[in-house]
Amino acid sequence: MSYPYAYEAPVSQTLFDRAAAVTPGGVNSPVRAFRAVGGTPRFMVSGTGPYLKDADGREYVDLVCSWGPMILGHAHPEVIAAVQAAVARGTSFGTPGEGEVELAEEIVARVAPVEQVRLVSSGTEATMSAIRLARGFTGRAKVIKFAGCYHGHVDALLAAAGSGVATFGLPDTPGVTGAQAGDTIVLPYNDLGAVRAAFAAHPGEIACVITEASPGNMGVVPPAEGFNQGLADLCRENGALYISDEVMTGFRVSKAGWYGIDGVRPDLVTFGKVMGGGFPAAAFGGRADVMAHLAPAGPVYQAGTLSGNPVATAAGLAQLRLLDDAVYETVDSVAAELSGLVTAALAKEGVAHRLQTAGNMFSVFFTEDRVTNYDEARKQEAFRFTAFFHAMLAQGVYLPPSAFESWFVSSAHDGAAVERVAAALPAAARAAAEATV
Ligand code: PLP
Repeated sequence: MSYPYAYEAPVSQTLFDRAAAVTPGGVNSPVRAFRAVGGTPRFMVSGTGPYLKDADGREYVDLVCSWGPMILGHAHPEVIAAVQAAVARGTSFGTPGEGEVELAEEIVARVAPVEQVRLVSSGTEATMSAIRLARGFTGRAKVIKFAGCYHGHVDALLAAAGSGVATFGLPDTPGVTGAQAGDTIVLPYNDLGAVRAAFAAHPGEIACVITEASPGNMGVVPPAEGFNQGLADLCRENGALYISDEVMTGFRVSKAGWYGIDGVRPDLVTFGKVMGGGFPAAAFGGRADVMAHLAPAGPVYQAGTLSGNPVATAAGLAQLRLLDDAVYETVDSVAAELSGLVTAALAKEGVAHRLQTAGNMFSVFFTEDRVTNYDEARKQEAFRFTAFFHAMLAQGVYLPPSAFESWFVSSAHDGAAVERVAAALPAAARAAAEATV
């Protein structure tokens, strides 16, 4: 495929060819393969502050930030020092350690509804375990999720609406059986009426509602006013648990994540990304009476060889401790400035678009209308994003390689980095304007 502004990346291409010989699709997580935008995925060799450097020696302003975790930028000296100190003490003991206690205390101190927390290694594990706990606690089987919300690659949560308004989820990927997905009810996002109807149709059967606290996995589609509170209320009225998935928003959009913005109390919360400081650390937590059902305190089994790993824990703790009000003010203002520049550049070229924000997360939809759910997100002209993406890449700005992902910034995105993005935008906006299917 060729694109305006495309340029060669021979070292990355050679690495990608080698990778494809030994790894399916050449990557260890599908979206990294650039399939949605085409071209050669850039193999990165280092990161410093707001910049990434690829194997061909090019530097990029990074607007992905490892899909969220790097809120202080890459290789923050204090995080690196904490990791080095932890590594020097040994990398895994398979026993409890003080770092786990400190990280759990930090999370509990920041997010009021979280009274107890269990550490795991990925967001997927967190949501999978939270759902198991909700089922074990309520003695019910069914789970409500929303189309366009991503909760990791948990079998039951990969179910998405099939044709029309699906009541029972259909397996969305080969390998997920009807039995695994059959207890998943997939509903349109931002539609409280559909949730009410599902509770009415399945009295006493629904264990929980899981939702991204503010979705970023269909692009940025914040909850409508009152939606999250409505979910919490419906859950309480019907004896189900409300699970807020804050893997993406947690400790990113505020000290207490999305909870710090909308104040809606979940029964359980899932975390990942920022809390690991760039290492595999994640968690789920919530009401103490619910968490008491988890082994060894209770009967719901959950475990992990590397859960609470001392190096990951040290990285996460170091990062969280640095995240004070000043950091969030900086990240918020960088996000506001950049999103303003993006929308101004696109408007100047007459490109129909919607810049949507949720705290300091933002993304662009190439469509006239505000996007409130997955069906609306899918109506955008994604081919314009492809042209925009490649023009930005060629000018040294690394965007998520998909029109359906949030963009992320860090407190390390200083004036110089913002200036580089600003300089790249006019040509990218022009490329979007001129793009054809
Ligand atoms: N939940 C949300 C909201 C996410 O955005 C993600 C990952 O992007 C996950 C869960 C899964 O986390 P992980 O990729 O660490 O398994």
